[in-house]
Amino acid sequence: MQVYLGLGSNMGSREETLQAAIQLINERIGKVVSRSAFYDTTPEGFQSEHRFLNAACGVETPLSPLDILDRTEAIEKELGRMSKSSAGIYHDRTIDIDILLMENQIIESERLTVPHPLMHERDFVLKPLSEIAPETVHPVLGKSVKELAEAGKPT
Ligand code: ADP
Ligand code: MG
Repeated sequence: MQVYLGLGSNMGSREETLQAAIQLINERIGKVVSRSAFYDTTPEGFQSEHRFLNAACGVETPLSPLDILDRTEAIEKELGRMSKSSAGIYHDRTIDIDILLMENQIIESERLTVPHPLMHERDFVLKPLSEIAPETVHPVLGKSVKELAEAGKPT
């Protein structure tokens, strides 16, 4: 199955961290078949003086959704992420890896919501994702990534 992941870092050597995360994803989750450029973005949802570097990648993987989440969480830990966000409280982080889309799958479980519940509102997700998957359709909203990215832009 082809899965799209979103990555973000706003602490430490952001570019090295994203590179390292993508390499570990390739080794432990599945072949990374596409990756976006790295985008320098303003923190959203919380106040921080530390800007983010964001990216998206496409991974071909045989793993189940929860196995993918276990492995992205292990990679976050390994690359030095300290604290988890909860109840909308966000923190600076060395690395955040979110599962954005898993083809047409819709998942709503305690640990995992796919498509990622905020992806369609976030420029820092849609911009890199539309670079590698413009025609991929969001299975809940029925719109392509490109359409979602353009909907957020001022006219
Ligand atoms: P955030 O990404 O919002 O900053 P975290 O990375 O700390 O926050 O994740 C918070 C929780 O979100 C995790 O415990 C995880 O189980 C849950 N979660 C739900 N859906 C997803 C998803 N699609 N991708 C990644 N994590 C998810
Ligand atoms: Mg996350």
